[in-house]
Amino acid sequence: MIDKWTISGYCIYCLEDVDAVVETKEEEITWKNTKLRCLQKTAYCPMCGNEVHVGEVHNFNLFSIYDAYRKAHNIISLEDVNKLVRQYEGTATPKELSIALGLHEDAIDNYLKGYIPSKKISRKLRRAFKVVPQKLLY
Ligand SMILES: [Zn+2]
Repeated sequence: MIDKWTISGYCIYCLEDVDAVVETKEEEITWKNTKLRCLQKTAYCPMCGNEVHVGEVHNFNLFSIYDAYRKAHNIISLEDVNKLVRQYEGTATPKELSIALGLHEDAIDNYLKGYIPSKKISRKLRRAFKVVPQKLLY
């Protein structure tokens, strides 16, 4: 999460490293046939005013779209996937938990990286919250 007003980046017009000014706006974006409203950040060069491309800003924008998409389709949030993994910490690794849920062994590791599960898998993940870990695994 970036809450800074400026972020360091490289301006391809000024050919210099700059402290780019970050602006945040709510935007309407259509992604995968779904209209979403989400926060999007843009970084501008303080000298020439052109947009500066910064990886961190790009990632923020992507995750903001993914978050909104998940909410719109009632799919488990990334935060809840993290909570789920913490709930099983010490009992099952993400791989073991994936297998116990009948998923590919890398499934939960991928969801932790931000991959969006299908609705069906999202329901499975949510159900796993309510199960005593030992019961699910053995
Ligand atoms: Zn510039």
